[in-house]
Amino acid sequence: MLYAFLGLVVLLLLFLLLLTVRALMFKPLKQPVAGRWQGKVDGKRAAANLQKMIQCRTVSHDDTGLEDDGEFERFRQLLVREYPLVHRHCHVKRLGRRGLLYHWPGRNAENPTVFMSHYDVVPADCSAWQHPPFEGVIQDGFLWGRGTLDTKVTLCGIMEAAEQLIDRGFVPANDIYLSFAGDEETSGASASAIVDHLESNGVRPHMVLDEGGAVVEGVLPGVSGKCALVGTGEKGKMHLRLSVTGKGGHASSPPRLTPVGRLARAVCRIEARPLPYRLAAPARQMLETLGRHASFAPRLLYANLSLLAPLLDLFTRKTGGEINALMRTTVAFTKMQASQAVNVFPPVATVEADVRINEGSTSDSVLAQIEKRINDPEVRVEKVAVIEVNPFSSTGTEPWQRVSKGIKQIWPESVVSPYLMIAASDSRHFTRISENVLRFSAMELSTEERKTIHGNDERIPLEKIGDCVKFFLYMMETS
Ligand SMILES: [Zn+2]
Repeated sequence: MLYAFLGLVVLLLLFLLLLTVRALMFKPLKQPVAGRWQGKVDGKRAAANLQKMIQCRTVSHDDTGLEDDGEFERFRQLLVREYPLVHRHCHVKRLGRRGLLYHWPGRNAENPTVFMSHYDVVPADCSAWQHPPFEGVIQDGFLWGRGTLDTKVTLCGIMEAAEQLIDRGFVPANDIYLSFAGDEETSGASASAIVDHLESNGVRPHMVLDEGGAVVEGVLPGVSGKCALVGTGEKGKMHLRLSVTGKGGHASSPPRLTPVGRLARAVCRIEARPLPYRLAAPARQMLETLGRHASFAPRLLYANLSLLAPLLDLFTRKTGGEINALMRTTVAFTKMQASQAVNVFPPVATVEADVRINEGSTSDSVLAQIEKRINDPEVRVEKVAVIEVNPFSSTGTEPWQRVSKGIKQIWPESVVSPYLMIAASDSRHFTRISENVLRFSAMELSTEERKTIHGNDERIPLEKIGDCVKFFLYMMETS
């Protein structure tokens, strides 16, 4: 008995020793080396043009009847006016409802690069803003307005860089395409129409770069310092509806279980048993890259992800939030509907959920898992809309190296890392025609700034507009 106990203690100590040794050997990976970017940009001009872009109310609504087409046209005319050289040197096509595709011929058409952005924005609640969201107020070193961060700044950065390079007589080594949608925020079809067009013309982009990660701080517990997150994949998405049909009738003599009661039970069953833990490649690579920069205690965890997976599973189940969303398919119940009157049973009661599908799962497999958890044939589960998980891109490729180097030139102190995007972006359509689809918004964003995206008081420090232009200059010069 004593020997068995001692044996167990020794085993445990050996295990702890193994974890410690692995954590001690878990040192930062070599980052790409790049000198600081030496070129010049006209930051004032870029800020003035971004200001004009903000003043176009290109607001997307789920109900397209609320949209102002004139404002979208005004935005497109603004591009023609402010970027005359781009319009002279590139073939411009309007595709789908609001897609804009620029083709800038290079010396070679074999390995084209696509730079993406979108020019629509989400609505803004004017009453809650310190400065009106569509006036483009510049004050105390900030440009205020809806779309400054998401993502007219990258569109502006791309156009400014192209205009400046053409002015210098620069011809890219390979073809460059600029792809801008005007309905990204409502998952419109413009980007998909652009991809259809490229596909039918046999264009296979060597690299596609869209909005996504940024240079941020405090993304991973225990890791301080700046991290440049480049999305190499994104989760899928499903709109799910659960419904129970009842007999209606008066509420004075209820059955044992009401339709609302059944739905509530189903919701509780799903929330009590989160979907399985699984570290998709981009999430694992992110923990493996950034975890090496963590203080010792959390590094113990990051260095031993495979050994401690059950612990991480348990921890993220309890905490929820961003870190949990990286590691499993999440189900968020957001809408409920039942009777209009308190004394009448609803003929049908529904709850709806926003599901984000992790790699390794499909909408069908998630649906089956959810039905199993509900375990009630009276609850009908149906998909309303689905975006399946699209293929992920790898690191270690030439495009990955190029983006990493570009980042290190402008933000030399940041650690470049892959990551899994939780939100869906237009770039997913390009996975059809390109193996290298990367997602990085060329900005450094504070935690406070991140909160203003799709929120109130969205604004950008003026110097960050210039940094964005510099990044795209580098990317185009090396395309
Ligand atoms: Zn966006």
